[in-house]
Amino acid sequence: MHKIALALTAALLASPAWSDTLLSNVNGIRVGADGRVQHFGALTIGDDGKIRQVIEHPELVRLANITHTIDGGGRTLLPGLIDAHGHVLDLGMTQMTVQLVGTSSVADLQKRLRDYAAAHPRDAWIIGFGWNQELWPDKRFPTAADLDAVVPDRPVVLERVDGHAVVANSAAIKAAGVTMQTPVPAGGRMENGLFVDAARGLIDKAIPPRTPEQSDEALAKAQEQLLSVGVTGVGSMSTSIDDWEAMKRAGEAGTLNVRLMVYLGGTKSLAAVPKPTPWLYDDRLRAVGIKLFADGALGSRGAWLKQPYADKPETRGLQFHSDAELLSLADTAAAHGFQVATHAIGDAANAQIISTYEQLAKKYGRDRRWRIEHFQIADPADIPRLAPAGIIASMQPTHQTSDRLMAEKRLGPNRLAGAYAWRSVLKSGARLAFGSDFPVESPNPFPGLAAAISRQDMRGEPPGGWIPSERLSFAQALDAFTRGAAYAGFAEDRIGSLEPGKWADFILVDRDPTAVDAQSLARTEVIETWVGGKKVWARPATASAAERGH
Ligand SMILES: [Zn+2]
Repeated sequence: MHKIALALTAALLASPAWSDTLLSNVNGIRVGADGRVQHFGALTIGDDGKIRQVIEHPELVRLANITHTIDGGGRTLLPGLIDAHGHVLDLGMTQMTVQLVGTSSVADLQKRLRDYAAAHPRDAWIIGFGWNQELWPDKRFPTAADLDAVVPDRPVVLERVDGHAVVANSAAIKAAGVTMQTPVPAGGRMENGLFVDAARGLIDKAIPPRTPEQSDEALAKAQEQLLSVGVTGVGSMSTSIDDWEAMKRAGEAGTLNVRLMVYLGGTKSLAAVPKPTPWLYDDRLRAVGIKLFADGALGSRGAWLKQPYADKPETRGLQFHSDAELLSLADTAAAHGFQVATHAIGDAANAQIISTYEQLAKKYGRDRRWRIEHFQIADPADIPRLAPAGIIASMQPTHQTSDRLMAEKRLGPNRLAGAYAWRSVLKSGARLAFGSDFPVESPNPFPGLAAAISRQDMRGEPPGGWIPSERLSFAQALDAFTRGAAYAGFAEDRIGSLEPGKWADFILVDRDPTAVDAQSLARTEVIETWVGGKKVWARPATASAAERGH
């Protein structure tokens, strides 16, 4: 406290404080550089939208003679949360297509598809997102025939919740020119209208691209949703050039409120964006990295494992690239000055990308912040290899709670020691960044924070938590969703912590997360969201939690 008080006095002497805004009477919570939770009572914000002072003892403020004052009403204030890994335009598009998240059966999927088709008679193609056969009684993958039974006359393509598989109806398969003779691409699988991983491309190329108007609408919808759950920054993964253009349009128009650290989709993007951009639009947008893939996902058995799947011993999953190929792709991105972020789920894929980064770390030095996206199933022997090569584990706590039962089946009981092992990552000395992988999971970071500290889902399952030795403290979890996520995007000099000189990106919420249990933490409601010292979202006074779909 004495340090803060001294710093405050020095700041007051050094600058005329009355052009600043004072936000007082808050229960402020932040994680200090020492990794501990700190409480404070007020903030001052400069005209430039940056934090001037963090004030532990508000009674000192009387010295400051600040006329511009906002009463925080005693509410809890947290730093704006940063999702290190999300799909921004896809999140918006889920509100503009058939919503299949949470479907309970093939029949439920068919009903939603039928309703959507009837309501949108002029859509030439019907696109949907979010089914997960693991949640269905028979756990059977949907087929082209299931879709044909509902929509025979127009192409239909429905994406699995993890984005690693689509199911298409016969009209879509025909429009894509796929026949029984079409060879299955390496790293892909094709059966009964299901197209997994590399085979997706056969269908995807036939889908009419989003129009710029659709992209703008999707970005606006995504931002609204993100701000409503307290997310003020995102590592925007697998961003297409069209998406990037939409983000720049929003920046030009002054409607970009969520700060986006952009990872372009693959080295093909280098033709359009050959090097990282500086921060644009008051630090709202930056192209910082290239996203690569080392394997598929666990749900569709596309994750590449060191040993066979426990529930399908004839396969070890899908290896996307040879070692030489992956090294060449990552090296190409790095040579252009980009950060490299590579999707790796299975332990074999994680070992491969670690070896790749180890080689590149020798060539490019340590502070290139090589990222592994998901780092879901690791061989415990590989975890200590992260820190020496400067590798960041970009992980998603809600994947653990969603995948738990499926992961047990895919891997068997004896290969879970390095599964979703975020505490082991921190203990090894590596940096951790948290996110949600929205729209695969909800973009709401509070269930993520709760999962991180409890290893339990929203209903408190399983009792005591799944592999509870991997639980984090609240301070560690909040740090991974703020400072860690900012660091993972080379943005920790401007966002990710409430400190003088950083942007005043913060949220007001309805409870004190340090004073409640994990179940309550998961249900935290955001009241206001501020970016750059301006209120950019406020909870509508009349909307109840149920109306907003929580
Ligand atoms: Zn993702």
